Amino acid sequence: MVCFCFLVDQTRKVRQSKPAAGICSRCGGGASVADMKTATRFCYVPFYWKNWRAIICTFCGAILRSYR
Ligand SMILES: [Zn+2]
Repeated sequence: MVCFCFLVDQTRKVRQSKPAAGICSRCGGGASVADMKTATRFCYVPFYWKNWRAIICTFCGAILRSYR
């Protein structure tokens, strides 16, 4: 199953974001509510998408909280 690991990867994209209250616990930067899109690819061909929402740090990109 080693080959399988190399063939599958995930890309994460922020579709849109807007400022939110709160600060990052890692760097102290500003937080924002972001609509995220995660695509799972097999041999570089996307076959599964997931849209989700999270609070991320605008400075370091850390995910502070995620909603399903
Ligand atoms: Zn941060």
